[in-house]
This record gives sequence, structure tokens and C-alpha cells, in this order.
Amino acid sequence: MSAGSPVATDVLIIGAGAAGLMCALTAAQRGRTVVLLDHNNKLAEKIRISGGGRCNFTNLNVKPDNYLSYNPHFCRSALARFTPQHFISLLEKHGIRYHEKTLGQLFCDDGSEAIIDMLRSECDAAGVRWAMPCTVGQITHGEGFSVQTSHGLYRTSSLVVATGGLSIPKIGATPFGYKVAEQFNLPVTKLKPGLVPLSFHPEAWAVYADLSGVSLDAIVGFGKQSFRENLLFTHRGLSGPAILQISSYWEPGQPLSIDLLPDHDLYAIFMEQRTNKMLLANFLTQYLPKRLAEIIATHWSENLPVNQHSSKQLAALADKIKGWQITPSGTLGYGKAEVTCGGVDTRALSSKSMECNDVAGLYFIGEVVDVTGHLGGYNFQWAWASGHAAGLAA
Ligand SMILES: Cc1cc2nc3c(=O)[nH]c(=O)nc-3n(C[C@H](O)[C@H](O)[C@H](O)COP(=O)(O)OP(=O)(O)OC[C@H]3O[C@@H](n4cnc5c(N)ncnc54)[C@H](O)[C@@H]3O)c2cc1C
Repeated sequence: MSAGSPVATDVLIIGAGAAGLMCALTAAQRGRTVVLLDHNNKLAEKIRISGGGRCNFTNLNVKPDNYLSYNPHFCRSALARFTPQHFISLLEKHGIRYHEKTLGQLFCDDGSEAIIDMLRSECDAAGVRWAMPCTVGQITHGEGFSVQTSHGLYRTSSLVVATGGLSIPKIGATPFGYKVAEQFNLPVTKLKPGLVPLSFHPEAWAVYADLSGVSLDAIVGFGKQSFRENLLFTHRGLSGPAILQISSYWEPGQPLSIDLLPDHDLYAIFMEQRTNKMLLANFLTQYLPKRLAEIIATHWSENLPVNQHSSKQLAALADKIKGWQITPSGTLGYGKAEVTCGGVDTRALSSKSMECNDVAGLYFIGEVVDVTGHLGGYNFQWAWASGHAAGLAA
């Protein structure tokens, strides 16, 4: 840590990702002096890699139901005050072109860098000062906050923690935010990887490993939650949007229920076709990807002509295809997860400003908070909205 006289700033933001950038530009536009620091030398790496390099920056259908949190109402206020339309207006001001892909998901036409450049230039125009790369050391709290860093000592009345979650450590994720919460005796809810592929024991998966690359439209359910999107077989387990979505809800040791044929009443089809002489695999290929149909016919049944199966056998097979119960052995972990579920307990924060109820001037925003969005642009919308809320208050 370098010596020298302390730098005073109205607002010090740790973490120059999606939430930190939005908070910085909002606070600076209000005339606050803002320092934004990050231990990375590259700005907003997660924005850069997001959405396959095109950043799924919001979703037109954002509503509180799209978020997991111990308190599902917490996100309501911030989301209502900074909507997808607000972010779209910012994009349009900068001439950034975008398109809707599916299910309300908005992506940049020309890649994620456009969004990073836009946020950087909004921050620059508002006078945000940058400290990157910068290592953060001890935080002390007395009258305001003192933060030791590799750029020297900062003094501030508003300290904003925007260091994100644990996913993808190789591009800079750290548990920093949770440690700050611990330092100030703030509760952190259970953390787990979310929006993550699910894995299976190799012996249990051996039958399906050959299906790697096969994808199909499916309904994947866990408890009362279900998602209808694509499901992808991989050599280690299951992935694809439907699985990523349910992974945030899934609890270890519990089975998922998968409807592999959502648009068909397979039981009724089998009963109508009881006299059909086609081999079961060929018959199923009319409805399912060929390789999957073959595995199902040979491993879940016998690959005999349909008319050589009893009605009871066909009914049982229809039940299994429409309600495959399968228990993952785990997830692919933070190395592959798009988000961290759980975080700083929302009961400790104001839903209006993201400020801690018991520590005046300390704010938590973005993914470090116990608010986790579904797949499809919802996590960035939370980062923008919570960053904006804190930026108006800090
Ligand atoms: C592969 C991938 C694709 C994704 N795609 C999408 C998508 O298309 N749409 C969507 O809505 N969401 C997507 N997400 C999720 C989204 O990126 C995050 O939810 C969002 O970036 C969270 O914003 P944040 O500002 O809270 O945290 P981050 O964007 O993670 O920013 C945190 C910042 O804090 C810094 N930091 C961490 N620790 C320290 C420390 N100790 N000291 C100083 N700085 C620190 C980091 O370097 C980083 O810059 C994706 C995530 C991944 C991993």
C-alpha cells in the first residue's frame, strides 16, 4: 500500500462491473465526487463475455417473479424505478443497435464492448475517477469509512460494495463483498452456484453420454418451479437454458422431473397406435431426436415393434418420457456458473437505496446481494437497477 495523504471522495465504489458502473455514473451525474476502483486492469469483464459476447443486457418482461431471493419483494422498488426502457434509452442515446432474440431477451447487435464503452464514457463525462487495477486492503469505519488500497488511503462517507458473486474466478470474482458483510456483522444467505450445468455420476450417466450434443425442447421442473426451454445433453450431464434455469432452484439429492415431449399426449398416441408394427425406436423418432429415441427404446424399454408391447408397458414408457425423474450428483460449480445464488441478506438493506439499515453510508449492489435473476438479461437488469438506486442515494 502506498503512503501519502488520504484522498477524500463523496462516494467510493469497489467493483467496476455492471452495478458499480451504473452506480458511479448515477452518483457522479448528481454532482457527487466518485472514485470507482477494481482489482482488474480490464473493465467489466463479465459484461464483455456475457451473452456469448453480445451481452443480453436486459429483458422486456422483467418482473419480480423473475428473481430468487429470501425476500422476493425486495427487488420490486429498484426494478420499478429503473426499467428496461431506461437502459434502452441510454443505448439509443449512444446509437447502440440491439435486437430481441427470444422471450424478451435484448442483445447488442455489435457486441458487448459497445455497452462497456457506453458506460465508461458516461462515467467519464460525469467526472468519475478510476482506480484500476487497485488492490483493496483494510476498511475501517468511524466517522465515514477509510479504505486502504494500493493507490493509497481513501476517505468517504458512502462506501458502495459492487464486487459481484463467486462465479468465474478466473476473470476476477472474489468473496470480497461477503467478507465486508461479515466485517460489519451483516447476514449473508446460503451461497450456491446458479445458472449452471448439472452433472451426474459417470456410471449413472454412461447410458446417456453418447447423447452429448443432442438438444430438444423440454419442460424441466423442480418442486413448484418449471421452465420450458431447450435442454442439452452433454458428456457429463445436462445443460441448456431449461437446465440452467432450474439449477438455481435445484437442491442436492433431490430429483428433477423432465417432460421430454411437452407438446404431445404420448399416452394417447400409444393407445391409438397399439397395433403399429414399427420398431419402438423408429416410432419414437417421429417425436424425439433419433439418438435419444434409440436410447429410450433400448434402455427404458425393449426395442420391439410397438404392437408387441402391452398397453401397460406403453403407458409406463409414456409416463417416463413425460416425467423423467433424474437426480443430478452436483453442478459444474462456480467455474461454469453464470451467477451466485444467495448473498448479502436483503433484510439488512433498504430496498429503496441498498444502504445497510444499521451502517449508515454502506451500500451493497448487484450480484453480491441476495437477489438472483433468471437466465435472459434479468441479472444485468438487477445490476443496473440496484446500481441506479444506490447512485441516487449515496
Ligand atoms: C459467462 C457469463 C455470461 C453471462 N451472461 C449474462 C447475460 O447475457 N445477461 C445477464 O443478465 N447476465 C449475464 N451474466 C450474469 C451477469 O454477468 C452478472 O450477474 C453481473 O455482471 C453482476 O454484476 P455486478 O456488477 O454485481 O458484478 P460483476 O459484473 O461481476 O462485477 C464485479 C466487479 O468487482 C470486481 N472485484 C471483485 N472482487 C474484487 C476485489 N476484491 N477488489 C476489487 N474489485 C473486485 C471484479 O473484478 C468485477 O469487475 C453472465 C455471467 C457469466 C459468468
